[in-house]
Amino acid sequence: MQFTRLRLTGFKSFVDPTDLVIQDGLTGVVGPNGCGKSNLLEALRWVMGESRPTAMRGGGMEDVIFAGTTRRPARNFAEVALHIDNAERLAPAAFNSHDAIEIVRRITRDAGSAYKAQGRDVRARDVQMLFADASTGAQSPALVRQGQIAELINARPTQRRRILEEAAGISGLYQRRHEAELK
Ligand code: ATP
Ligand code: MG
Repeated sequence: MQFTRLRLTGFKSFVDPTDLVIQDGLTGVVGPNGCGKSNLLEALRWVMGESRPTAMRGGGMEDVIFAGTTRRPARNFAEVALHIDNAERLAPAAFNSHDAIEIVRRITRDAGSAYKAQGRDVRARDVQMLFADASTGAQSPALVRQGQIAELINARPTQRRRILEEAAGISGLYQRRHEAELK
């Protein structure tokens, strides 16, 4: 599975619809301080199912919505769409009948957030499992936040094991076992 496009609307500093086309050869995003480089990575993490406001540098989940500036009013919703190339058909069964997958997450003030896959409502869990099975996702070790290296060094063995399991691609299995135990 390959990410091919990230579209942001009203997400953090990206108030106007912004389309990032992810093509082969893209190795970096550069720009002055505060231009939104980290926000792009947070948008990617968010659409894959991040549920911790702290991981989004916010106090609450609604803090991802454009908060307004002296010249522009705040928005009432934020939306991020992620396009995935699934030509190799590696996605889990529920998503695997398409060559391209579009996942959309939208949060509306006072109404929480909702996900769609191929235009149809899906649960947060479905989206999280899609990425967990593909060894990526909001908690993926491929996304390294500032300060995370220090966290890794100071992690307790159980936390470090979770990181290694994610890298080994078996965290999806653990989530399923946990759910089975709750039933
Ligand atoms: P640096 O080079 O310093 O790491 P950066 O390019 O990573 O900078 P970001 O941290 O992605 O920059 O963007 C920070 C900007 O996003 C700040 O100007 C901040 O005000 C703005 N921002 C964050 N959340 C919101 C929000 N909810 N509404 C509007 N603007 C926001
Ligand atoms: Mg940054």
